Amino acid sequence: MPLFQNAAYFASAHYLHELPPEDGCVEVAFAGRSNAGKSSAINTLANHNRLAYVSKQPGRTQLINFFTLGSGAYLVDLPGYGYAKVPEAMRKHWQHVLSSYLATRPSLRGLVLVMDSRHPLTPLDRQMLDWFCPTAKPVHVLLTKSDKLSRSEAMKTLAEVRKELQTGWGNCTVQLFSSLKKQGVEEAEKVIAPWLSEGPGTGSVAPEH
Ligand code: GDP
Repeated sequence: MPLFQNAAYFASAHYLHELPPEDGCVEVAFAGRSNAGKSSAINTLANHNRLAYVSKQPGRTQLINFFTLGSGAYLVDLPGYGYAKVPEAMRKHWQHVLSSYLATRPSLRGLVLVMDSRHPLTPLDRQMLDWFCPTAKPVHVLLTKSDKLSRSEAMKTLAEVRKELQTGWGNCTVQLFSSLKKQGVEEAEKVIAPWLSEGPGTGSVAPEH
């Protein structure tokens, strides 16, 4: 069964204290600039046209939305950032919530950072990497809308982003992704599945003897 196929809406949080209890669960968070293609990527990975539509409903776009994947695993859809019209107080609130969530959530196993392949590594993307990378947990970058680039442009962008991630932040991988063409699903699952398969309460699993 593909990793995200059984995803179903579970809960939303506006404040850190509203997050579901982390005991016995593991989670992968999806973040990205507004309009980068995060909801489309989640829907494509889940093979579900309207799953992340939940996160787009009025009142929900600014929430942390949890989707259960079964067996104590969760996909966490973080609010899109960089939307110019967000009031300053709201921006400050989310800066605090996101930075704390990324830096301190024990059940969080890795971050999927969604970037428009035509505009990768914006200043706010770099901010997310700066917040998360001190945890030494893995980051996987999806360069979305790759169908909008020629093959050679896409390969060039991939190589440039990979190089910059490795130089600047370390534990990062990157791939091309197209929700329109449904390209990149297996590659993403191969990276993310091991993050969630380690089981709750274990930072990394020692091999059994
Ligand atoms: P979000 O704000 O990051 O959740 O972005 P959305 O998933 O809502 O996508 C923003 C816009 O980009 C929408 O108009 C989508 O149809 C479009 N889009 C998203 N993914 C792709 C893709 O892979 N290819 C193309 N061509 N358009 C896409």
